[in-house]
Amino acid sequence: MSMTVIKAVDPRSPAHRAGVRPGETLAEINGHPIVDVLDYKFYSYDPRLELKLRQSDGTVRTLRVRKSEGEDLGLEFETYLMDRARSCANNCIFCFVDQMPPGMRKSLYFKDDDARLSFLMGNYLTLTNLSPREVQRIIDLRISPINVSVHTTDPKLRGEMLKNPRAGEGIAIMERFAQNHITMNCQIVSCPGINDGSALDKTLRDLAGMFPAVNSISVVPVGVTKYRQGLYPLQPYTKEQAAALVDQVEAFAQAHWEEKGTRLVWCSDEFYLLAGRELPEEEYFEEFTQLDNGVGMLRLLRSEFSRALTLAEPEELEGIAPFSIATGVSAAPFLGELVDMVQGKCGKIEGKVYPIVNHFFGETITVAGLVTGKDLMEQLRGQKLGERLLIPANMLRSGERVFLDDVTLDEVEEKLGVPVIPVAQDGYELLDAMCGLVTAPPPSKPNLPEDEYYRYNPGVRG
Ligand code: SF4
Repeated sequence: MSMTVIKAVDPRSPAHRAGVRPGETLAEINGHPIVDVLDYKFYSYDPRLELKLRQSDGTVRTLRVRKSEGEDLGLEFETYLMDRARSCANNCIFCFVDQMPPGMRKSLYFKDDDARLSFLMGNYLTLTNLSPREVQRIIDLRISPINVSVHTTDPKLRGEMLKNPRAGEGIAIMERFAQNHITMNCQIVSCPGINDGSALDKTLRDLAGMFPAVNSISVVPVGVTKYRQGLYPLQPYTKEQAAALVDQVEAFAQAHWEEKGTRLVWCSDEFYLLAGRELPEEEYFEEFTQLDNGVGMLRLLRSEFSRALTLAEPEELEGIAPFSIATGVSAAPFLGELVDMVQGKCGKIEGKVYPIVNHFFGETITVAGLVTGKDLMEQLRGQKLGERLLIPANMLRSGERVFLDDVTLDEVEEKLGVPVIPVAQDGYELLDAMCGLVTAPPPSKPNLPEDEYYRYNPGVRG
């Protein structure tokens, strides 16, 4: 069955006013065949549309629609993409999906590499499964910006890292995009001894050669779980290796800033934490373009938190009931400093930060977003948690009250005997949550079917 069959029509939409009916297939808009969500979004932008709608008996009717420019037409399809999500053609040596324990929900093992999800949802793609026609469509429809997992610009090394002999061609596609002014935000998953050192220098030089089409680059450390049996031997970064990489990237960024007025490349916060380095100041991150990759996230959180604290009246803070915060091992000292800041201002609060060791994936995984409900329950049972436990919202599947291991927020609350409050990555909200002003949001599910939806964890997906 075509995946452009209309499942529902919003009753307040231009499509409904024009008489579009569920069950019809959207065949064309203004003479352009509609294949997927990109065609739909792109060609339905104009204020005057002519829709060709195919009926179940094969006949086609034409409808005219008037609406404001950019207004949503109001159609809902069987899947968000109006097509199947494209899986990747690679077998990367650092792939996080291959390092997950068995028995988790099916959607978490799905390896996506879909240009449409890159544009619409910010997913990263490797450019290894695009046909020449699809490359041309990205250029023709000006699908920009797109997010590219580069890892290295050395074609041979890229082929070896992605275990795909065609991986080197992705760099030529990037050059074509650059010539056609498609903006690209790039990610490098850095693996010690493989694509760092001189290989990283070359990659940064090559990508800088595509500036300004290459708009930003993040360098994130490879995640290494305890489930690597039979996989390529990879080690996590040591403190010294992480420090050397931070120095290397900062030196490159400084030179680029002096010449072009932007640093272009940033290490993720995790690299600074691994290296035991202070996070750079807020200005260093410029536009915070790579927040989703964990670049500058903690600095922004601290700056917001500090501003919120300045605005708060001491009396508001003095009434704070005892609370606790659970987070990953790497960010725990950082959150402890924020609690100290509140104590510095009002002196009386009782707030304790618990670093949760990741037994589920292995202790080398220290980010908060991969902490599971089971680890939370096991490590916090019997601890002094105060009147509420705050957790980073990214421990939960987006928009849901469920942890990565399918344990629910309700189960954790019941086991620990305190309300558990997910807090967004926002310094103002964090202070409010400490003060007891934030309650858990109601569950909501994104409008995506199971096989297209997976949560995005900075630095762990290709
Ligand atoms: S890291 Fe990404 S591109 Fe590589 S195999 Fe895994 S899902 Fe595919």
